[in-house]
Amino acid sequence: MLSGGVGAAKFLSGLVQLVDPQSVTAIVNTADDTILHGLNISPDIDTLTYTLAGAIDTKRGWGLRDETWRAMNSLLRFENIRPVGSLAAPTWFNLGDADLATHFYRTARLQEGATLTQVTDEIRRAFDVQVRIIPMCDQTVSTEITVASCDASVSGQTISFQEYFVRHQHSVPVQSVGFRGSETAIFGALDELRASDAIVIAPSNPIVSIGPLRALAGVDEALTARREKVIAVSPIIAGAALKGPADRMLRELGHEASVVGIARLYSSVCATLVIDHADKDRRSEIEATGMHCVVTNTVMSDPIAARNLAQVVIESVM
Ligand code: GDP
Repeated sequence: MLSGGVGAAKFLSGLVQLVDPQSVTAIVNTADDTILHGLNISPDIDTLTYTLAGAIDTKRGWGLRDETWRAMNSLLRFENIRPVGSLAAPTWFNLGDADLATHFYRTARLQEGATLTQVTDEIRRAFDVQVRIIPMCDQTVSTEITVASCDASVSGQTISFQEYFVRHQHSVPVQSVGFRGSETAIFGALDELRASDAIVIAPSNPIVSIGPLRALAGVDEALTARREKVIAVSPIIAGAALKGPADRMLRELGHEASVVGIARLYSSVCATLVIDHADKDRRSEIEATGMHCVVTNTVMSDPIAARNLAQVVIESVM
C-alpha cells in the first residue's frame, strides 16, 4: 500500500482483519517529516504504527491514547526569555509526553547511523505491529508549500508542510507544491511494488501524501508496469475531503475536487478506482479516463466499515 497518514491507517486496520498482517507492506510518505526540538518526527509513519498497535488517540486522530502534556506545558516557561529570532522551544506543534519517547528513540538511532528504514522497523517491533512499515526513502525529502497572494503574514512565501498544516491550520491558499530532495532520493521499495500481488493507493491526500512517493524516480514506471493490479480508494467523497485540505488543495492547484479529479490524477498508473455510493453518478466519467470503477461505502467510520471496504478492494483487485 502507498500510504499517507490517517485514511491509510484506518484502511490498514480493516485489511489486517482479513489477511495475514505479515503479508502486508505499507510504503509511507515521509515528506511531512520534520525536526523540532532537535527531534526527528515522522508523522505519517507514527500514525500507522500507533493505529495498528491500537494505541492511537482516535478522537484527536493523531498521537497516543491517554497522553499527558507536561513537557509541552513546561515549554511555556521559555516563551518570554527566548531571544528574538530564536526558534527554540516552539509550542505550535504538540508532542505528548509518551509520544516524545518515540522521537527520542528515532533521533538517537539516526544519530548512531541507522537508516530511517531500520529505525522505523525497530519502532514497529517495539509496538508489536505485524504489518511491515517502510519509509518511502532514507534521504530527506521535504514538502514545500508556496502560499498564494493573500491577507496572511506568509502571503507569497514558501513554507514547510507542517508550518502550512499545523501552524497555519491549512487555512492559507496554495499556489504550488514542491518536494525538495525528491530528484536524488531513492525510493526504498521498488522490489516490493514489483513482487506484490496487488498495490493499493490508500485514501490519502493525492498531492501531499501520495504525490511525494510518485515524485521519486521509478515509482510511476513501476506502478504503470503493474497497472492492472493497482487499485485506489478515493479520498474525496461528494466533492469534499472527510478531513484536511485535500479538496481545497486540488482546486487551488487546478484539479477538480471530485472522484473524477482523482481518476484523472491516477488513471495512468492505476486501473481501478473505488468510490463512495455518494458519487455513483460519476461512474461513466471515471470510466472515460480508462479506469474501472467500483462503488461501495468508503467512509471508514468504524472497524467494521474499514473491514468491509478492505474486502471490496481485495475482491476487486485479486
Ligand atoms: P493525513 O491523515 O492528515 O496524513 O492525510 P492523508 O493524506 O493520509 O489523508 C487525508 C485524506 O484521507 C483526506 O482527503 C480524507 O478525506 C481521506 N480520508 C480519511 N478518512 C477516510 C475514510 O474513512 N474514507 C475515505 N474514502 N477517505 C478518508
